[in-house]
Amino acid sequence: MPFLIDSHAHTNFNAYKDDGDAVIRRSLSQDIWLINVGSQYDTSKRALEIADQYETGVYAAIGLHPIHLSHTEVDEEEIHFQTREEQFDEQKYQALIDADQNHKIVGVGEIGLDYYHIPETMTLAEVKNRQTPDFIKQLHFAVKNNLAVIIHCRDSERGKFDAYRDTLDILKSEINNGLKLRGIKHSFDGDLKIAEEFFDLGFYVGFTGVITFGKNAEGLRQLVKNLPLDKILVETDCPYLSPDPHRGERNEPSFVRFTAQKIAELKSITLEEVSKTTVKNTRGLFRI
Ligand SMILES: [Zn+2]
Repeated sequence: MPFLIDSHAHTNFNAYKDDGDAVIRRSLSQDIWLINVGSQYDTSKRALEIADQYETGVYAAIGLHPIHLSHTEVDEEEIHFQTREEQFDEQKYQALIDADQNHKIVGVGEIGLDYYHIPETMTLAEVKNRQTPDFIKQLHFAVKNNLAVIIHCRDSERGKFDAYRDTLDILKSEINNGLKLRGIKHSFDGDLKIAEEFFDLGFYVGFTGVITFGKNAEGLRQLVKNLPLDKILVETDCPYLSPDPHRGERNEPSFVRFTAQKIAELKSITLEEVSKTTVKNTRGLFRI
């Protein structure tokens, strides 16, 4: 059993092009396993190639992130890039799964709705119309391949919950229509009511290093205190969102221990308990 599993990493991104192997080895040497998550076809393929380089402990998720459905200029604290336009081409992604002889692909993601990064030429309604069909297609694609889904959703404004609302509506309607989905809302930043709606659908929620820093995260820390540990996964979302005490540095999978430590502290339980339960949750969800 690993000590922890970083359920959402991106060492398949360019930020690690020079030292990705060293970063992964540092993590594995601390018994921390990881799942590299794709954002479009190239990074999905790369996630699989990386996973294949290690006998155990490194896995992949493949999928098309909503911000890659249209040209968007993404400019935030830790990231600046121009997204490329891609549409979900099921055959291409299916070919990755068909080629995956070592069963390293454990999820479809990250997929969902992003109302935060809106191209200048589009309205919110247009963005929603563009993103919804590919989101639904990928939900079906996951179930067809018996894979968990990794959901990304980001509201147009903090606390507005518009993307969360639409995401939950889509998941509920697909599940009511008989789609046997299992999955996680990664980098959860909703409230208690929203978390409970995900739990009602059998979904988990993932927490990043955000809970270790910042006054803005006080609400999230209160939430972590109140949520059942058997519904929580830990993740880094590296290279972004470095936890305290590594703010300002590039994040990496081994830093997931700071998030686990914070959860233990908030819930007044041992790190061992957080380790045991989150590893069990992650292995169960992704069938690792
Ligand atoms: Zn991510």
